Amino acid sequence: MGGVVEAITEPAVAWTGTITVLVLAFFALFFFWRSRRARIARDQVMARERKLQRQFEAVMSSTRDGILIVTQTDEIALLSDVAANVLSIDREEAVGKPLSRLGMRVVDDRMRPLLLREAFGIDSNDLTSRIIGVPGRRGADDIRWVQVRARVVEDGLDDGPVTIVTIMDTSGLREAAEAISRSDAQFRKAMENAPSGMALVDLEWRLMEVNRAFAEMMGSTVSALRSVPFSSLSHPQDLHAEQDQLERLYSGAQNRFNVEKRYVKADGNVVWAQLDVGLVRHAGGAPDHYVVQLRDSTDDRMHSEILAHRAMHDPLTGLANRTLMQEVLQELLDQPDPESRVGVLAIDLDGFKGLNDRFGHATGDNALVHVAGVLRAAAGGRGTVSRIGGDEFVIVVQDPDCSKALYDIAGAIHEGLRRPIQVKRHQVALHASVGIAMADGETVDGGAPALLSAADSAMYRAKSLGKSRTEVYEPSMRAASERHTGLAAELVDAIERGDLVLHYQPILELRTRTVVGYEALVRWQHPTRGLLLPASFLPLIDDRNLAVALGMSLVEQAASFLANGPSQTTWVSINVSADQLGDSEFADKVLSAIGRYHLSPQRLVVELTEASLVAPNTRIRHELTELRNAGVPILLDDFGTGVSPLSYLRDLPVSGVKLDMSFVAGIPEDPAGARVSRALGALARELGLATIAEGIENEDQAQFLADCGWRYGQGWLFGVAQPVGALRESTPEYTSSLIDPRPTEGESAQDAMRLNRD
Ligand code: C2E
Ligand code: CA
Ligand code: CA
Repeated sequence: MGGVVEAITEPAVAWTGTITVLVLAFFALFFFWRSRRARIARDQVMARERKLQRQFEAVMSSTRDGILIVTQTDEIALLSDVAANVLSIDREEAVGKPLSRLGMRVVDDRMRPLLLREAFGIDSNDLTSRIIGVPGRRGADDIRWVQVRARVVEDGLDDGPVTIVTIMDTSGLREAAEAISRSDAQFRKAMENAPSGMALVDLEWRLMEVNRAFAEMMGSTVSALRSVPFSSLSHPQDLHAEQDQLERLYSGAQNRFNVEKRYVKADGNVVWAQLDVGLVRHAGGAPDHYVVQLRDSTDDRMHSEILAHRAMHDPLTGLANRTLMQEVLQELLDQPDPESRVGVLAIDLDGFKGLNDRFGHATGDNALVHVAGVLRAAAGGRGTVSRIGGDEFVIVVQDPDCSKALYDIAGAIHEGLRRPIQVKRHQVALHASVGIAMADGETVDGGAPALLSAADSAMYRAKSLGKSRTEVYEPSMRAASERHTGLAAELVDAIERGDLVLHYQPILELRTRTVVGYEALVRWQHPTRGLLLPASFLPLIDDRNLAVALGMSLVEQAASFLANGPSQTTWVSINVSADQLGDSEFADKVLSAIGRYHLSPQRLVVELTEASLVAPNTRIRHELTELRNAGVPILLDDFGTGVSPLSYLRDLPVSGVKLDMSFVAGIPEDPAGARVSRALGALARELGLATIAEGIENEDQAQFLADCGWRYGQGWLFGVAQPVGALRESTPEYTSSLIDPRPTEGESAQDAMRLNRD
């Protein structure tokens, strides 16, 4: 302060003082300005720093990852809220502390303890990344899995390089991963133990993974099937069965598909499988692999095939049934130019109806199976063999030389049936009538039914011409067969109306030429066609009920004839078919008629053709025994034509035999016929049977037969079969020579003809 005063008192000194003051003021101003500027700059920096800090914190709090910065000296320089939260530590407390003093324990992914420096990658120079487990606050099980990435940043803050650690809570991810691997394990377990086949198949359709059921289905093992192309297991014919659908699946056009196809097992057997295929895609949608489920559908298939087969086949013989045969035939006729390439054989067994009743149904079935075999062999793959009814068969033939094929087959059928079948103790020969029809303009237009009916007509012709033969269709046959069908339909009413009547042919004792009885022969007094003989209508009776009804009507007529006829001592023999005898009430009905008309049972005689000979223990045999026990005599018709062994003849309840007229016809010129007649007569007498010869047309025959020991005879020599009225109206002279007019007292029919052996 003194210096300033001196400067004022002394000019030089004062100038110098002024300058000094000015300099001082200048410096003062300068420093003031500078400090102000520095303050402003500092304020600005601080403001910017605060702004940056806010932004930094905003960034840190908004990232999913937490941030931890650790200095070279191990001090925690920075810890974001997120990081503090993930690590379950207090941020305020932690910042500025050395890492080692944090008091945190962490573990690696195998739960082994880790040093914090190691955990946070402090000592590594590169970018590191690891998963660590951080125990939470909720006990031992509460472990938070954290992904830690550490990077050492060289040009850090004042304290040298720092380690910047990003911390990410992966608990959720890990749980998800665990869940995935858990469900993966569960899936595998489920797959392994699934009862149905499962496979994971890659996009090249190669098996990646299969389960046991799958392997078993293919007859292989799980390990053997791994990496095997799925198609290599496929049945060659089904190789591409899934191809189109797989492509659609791949392209996204569909989600999954089902297909049924065949596979070939390791042992060569074929297995049917129902496939259910789905495509598994990546999250992005790209196809990854297929999941295939397989169900063994072999049984289902077989079952439905069996059902389908059953619907189209005859269960007894395995042949096609009518439905299938008609379908096949129609298909062939629908092809171009079926004429002369397509034909049909209609086959009907002769005399089969009785076989069932005579030998039982099991025998009948066996016979049909046998016939089916014969037909199959005869067709030899040239046609479809079918059974369309009881004993009716049809073979549909397609052959370039059809007419030759049809003839060949027909020939082979007759040839094949020639070998008799063994039925119990019998050799039974089967015969068939065969009708042939070829496709022609008419039948092609009319379709399968027209061709079948043509073959039927030919078959009927074969039957009417004597059976066991083949006839070829001609248009004229159609009318005949239509007549047949018409007649068959009329028969029912005719029986009811009583249009079927008995005519009686006398039977005489050859020595005395007295009438001892009559054979009752049926005739149809047809309203428009006149008198029809049995051959024209009896074969039409297919229905057993009809045969039984006819039999009953005739038994009634015969009984009435006996009661009211020309003689009270003569007997009447009625012809009875196996069909009629198969009716379990036949014997009852005959005996009831005998009772109602007060007849001696010996007067009503039953004639049974030798061909309908019956096995023991069948119903027919039972009926016969019942009749015989009641005193009704039983005659064996057409004796000599059958094939029964003698013992069998002896065992049957038979009272007499009727020599077949084929032997009589040759007498006496034909030495064979004569010899057989003599031998058969001797045999019958030896067996204690009454003997009646049929078909005697001349005196020589009558004489010869009488000489050979045939006691009784019938034939045109003595009289044709006549209606009741004609017998009564016959002239006395005529009747006196043929019919014994007066029954002698005490002479019974049995005395007149010793029909009963005992
Ligand atoms: P069958 O029992 O052998 O009858 C004898 C057949 O020979 C009869 O033919 C008869 O008219 C015929 N006949 C009689 N005498 C002579 C003769 O001197 N010479 C020739 N060539 N033939 C003679 P029909 O009446 O046409 O009967 C044929 C077959 O029809 C019978 O053969 C019999 O098997 C069956 N039949 C006839 N009536 C009945 C019946 O009421 N019921 C049953 N189930 N079948 C019957
Ligand atoms: Ca007869
Ligand atoms: Ca006869």
